[in-house]
Amino acid sequence: MKKNLIVILGGGESGVGAALLAKKMGLNIFVSDSGIILQRNKRILIENRIPFEEKGHTNSLIFKAKKVIKSPGISRNNSLIKKINLFGIPIISELEFGKTYLNNSYIISITGSNGKTTTTSIVYKILKKAGLHVGIAGNIGRSFSKEVLKKKDIYVLEISSFQLDDCLKFRSNISVLLNIQRDHLNRYNNIEDYTYSKFKIAIHKNKEDILIYNHDDPIIRKGLKKYQIGSNNCIPFSINEELYIGAYIKYNNIFIRHKGHQEICFLNIEKIPLKGDHNIYNILASVLISEILNINKKFIKQTLLYFPILEHRMEKVLNINGVEFINDSKATNVNAVFYALKSLSSPIIWIAGGKDKGNDYREIFYLVKKKVKAIIFLGKKNKKFINCFQNIISIIRETENIKKAVRMAYILSIPGDNILFSPSGSSFDLFKDYKERGMKFKKEVRKLFYEKNRYFF
Ligand code: ADP
Repeated sequence: MKKNLIVILGGGESGVGAALLAKKMGLNIFVSDSGIILQRNKRILIENRIPFEEKGHTNSLIFKAKKVIKSPGISRNNSLIKKINLFGIPIISELEFGKTYLNNSYIISITGSNGKTTTTSIVYKILKKAGLHVGIAGNIGRSFSKEVLKKKDIYVLEISSFQLDDCLKFRSNISVLLNIQRDHLNRYNNIEDYTYSKFKIAIHKNKEDILIYNHDDPIIRKGLKKYQIGSNNCIPFSINEELYIGAYIKYNNIFIRHKGHQEICFLNIEKIPLKGDHNIYNILASVLISEILNINKKFIKQTLLYFPILEHRMEKVLNINGVEFINDSKATNVNAVFYALKSLSSPIIWIAGGKDKGNDYREIFYLVKKKVKAIIFLGKKNKKFINCFQNIISIIRETENIKKAVRMAYILSIPGDNILFSPSGSSFDLFKDYKERGMKFKKEVRKLFYEKNRYFF
């Protein structure tokens, strides 16, 4: 066996990206996956002559590795990871592995419980429109290591807490903390551990690096006092307060104020197609990043005025006889549902469900009481959910079938109602992922639409 073996655990997007970069750098690598590797990933590995195994690990080989690169999907409590630790083999993240092969690229890293994909996409679009040589990667579904091969000048990275957990000293020029809400508490011991994981984005920074954070988020404000932030430049954004430094909303306009300067007005938020307070936060963070990078205002405006609503995020599907169907399948925690409910006005029939990740529904009781007239729970384990809501909502139904959920909701509706599919739990109880869940929802809505309008077709 060749020396200096690097084992890549996980043959998904990040693992295959790391393997491609490692191969290009002439390293001795082996990819090992406990499950089945997707056909298209296998093809890439074979075409690039990268050895791999699937449906199990050859421990004897793995324990001889000089280094292990771990997919963020594998928990640190996994028995193999524990053994690798016992052997003293360093485990590094795909992000840190990729970054070692970059020289001077500028890194913008975005994390938060919600809004990562939206904000990362907005920033990427603005920078691209401004003509920068920019790459997008990370949790958004594109491996950073693979993008590193393209040697971009600037990278916009969506970063999850699982990715941060695997990082030892990952450093970005700009990092963004959008919000910290209860999430993934099935993988973390408590909210403090989860908060620490998110704050890792801000800890390993140079003094001249910049941290952009949500001033309205109490957990972030507390964390800023608790953790040692490497940077001297912490810039807030807020929708509640006019800030001395940072980005904020006044008379429905986006404003930015630099230290000791006059405020600059950017754009009226009513003109922007992305709606809801949650999206205003995402927009404020994006405008701040662009302003720090000195991007011409016209590129920021043009991007925001035409930025589309992303699929599975408060996406309007169809209106059937006056009833609006909204697909928010990406809402996998209670806070995303909070903003979904907040952004809708008329009576709502809420299709909730999914796998509970330690949810605390108290945050939405007030809004549910005020706006929701019926709940349909789509999922396998519904006891906790029903116990929480049975005293405030009289119509609660349950099903494991998405077709039934759509039809039950429609039967309960009258013209003017919204049927909101915003689950609050992850999709893995009944679906492959949130995308499959959202696609199936939309398919059932379309079927219902054709049935109800068949005379026109
Ligand atoms: P992430 O990548 O962090 O999961 P997304 O942009 O994909 O975030 O949005 C996921 C869900 O969270 C959607 O339901 C969306 O409507 C909601 N959401 C988006 N931005 C925010 C935010 N800043 N705060 C709370 N919820 C948000």
